Amino acid sequence: MALYDKFSRLAKEREQFQISGLNPFGTCIDEIYSATQGRIGTHKIVLAGTNNYLGLTFDTGAIAAGQAALSTQGTGTTGSRMANGSYGSHLTLEKELAEFFDRPTAIVFSTGYTANLGVISTLAVPGTVVLIDADSHASIYDACALGGAEIIRFRHNDAKDLERRMIRLGERARDALIIVEGIYSMLGDVAPLVEIANIKRRLGGYLLVDEAHSFGVLGAKGRGLSESLGVEKDVDIIVGTFSKSLASIGGFAVGSKDMDVLRYSSRPYIFTASPSPSSIASVRTSLKHITEHPELRDKLWHNAHRLYNGLAALGYELGPNISPVVPVMIGSKEDGLKYWRDLIENGVYVNLVLPPAAPAGITLLRCSVNAAHSDEEIDAILQAFAKLKK
Ligand code: PMP
Repeated sequence: MALYDKFSRLAKEREQFQISGLNPFGTCIDEIYSATQGRIGTHKIVLAGTNNYLGLTFDTGAIAAGQAALSTQGTGTTGSRMANGSYGSHLTLEKELAEFFDRPTAIVFSTGYTANLGVISTLAVPGTVVLIDADSHASIYDACALGGAEIIRFRHNDAKDLERRMIRLGERARDALIIVEGIYSMLGDVAPLVEIANIKRRLGGYLLVDEAHSFGVLGAKGRGLSESLGVEKDVDIIVGTFSKSLASIGGFAVGSKDMDVLRYSSRPYIFTASPSPSSIASVRTSLKHITEHPELRDKLWHNAHRLYNGLAALGYELGPNISPVVPVMIGSKEDGLKYWRDLIENGVYVNLVLPPAAPAGITLLRCSVNAAHSDEEIDAILQAFAKLKK
């Protein structure tokens, strides 16, 4: 069999999507004008398919800090922190993240993906058990595969199912690692963390929460779902990314003092280049911005309610929670593709998500709002969806 033959079905499917114009996977956004506006081909569009929850990608302070770091520290670090050394700004950001979360240790990784890979694969080695939500992000699955631990999946957001599986483990539950996410990226729903913390208190184990989509979005200080539900003390490790609310690229993990040992044992930390100085500088500015401007979160939630309620009033079937991620359920793959293209024609960009990327075999149009959307832009999204109904 030739090297790429095993992908022939995938290649054919991909071709089908490309035949009639715009391709929903890896869409080229020809120009970006702001956190909410861009151009695809000849269409000016409202961006409603990003993870830019606080709308900080065009924050003037973050841009200026990035530019200054480019001029003074250069374009890249060209190596890993272990082999080639950390820059002072990596360490300063780690100190600031540790303070933000009020935890002893913070470690910066090159992406959110490598943060999960780096933490989970190093802790969840053969002989340990990891219990993961079935709808976990690919980076969590990949991390478990890399680590070689025994993987037990429990039903999505089903604390009772987790508990049953923990009980079945007996004594082994005490050392198991439970992994969930804050806000789930496709359905916008949240983990039942109060119940899970309660199970952990009774049966033991360690709890890791990936707050990729909830950092900056939930909690009085923006620390995520764990903060908003008052269970931070029960959470051993929080993992997050710089690529969503922090509007840059990179990842992080915060935890106990012992976590520092990952710097000397975690291959995805050791064997990859560290984030560039300009990324770190903009993240530091955005982190400060998030701390000083909690009203950004209020604006985000105002927008989330406006979009969710507007789409519900149009009769669309939506996700279970009001959230900055608003999934619109669509019957078939073909309808999904047609609607996705029609929305672009009508000036709105959302994400088409097909199984298996969408959970439970459904096709959905993933809409997301951010704090920078104006009421008029949210209404433009609603009008585009109203036209689909006609
Ligand atoms: N965890 C979750 C839950 C995510 O949704 C993502 C990215 N979509 C990541 C981790 C990876 O983050 P990054 O894009 O920074 O690699």
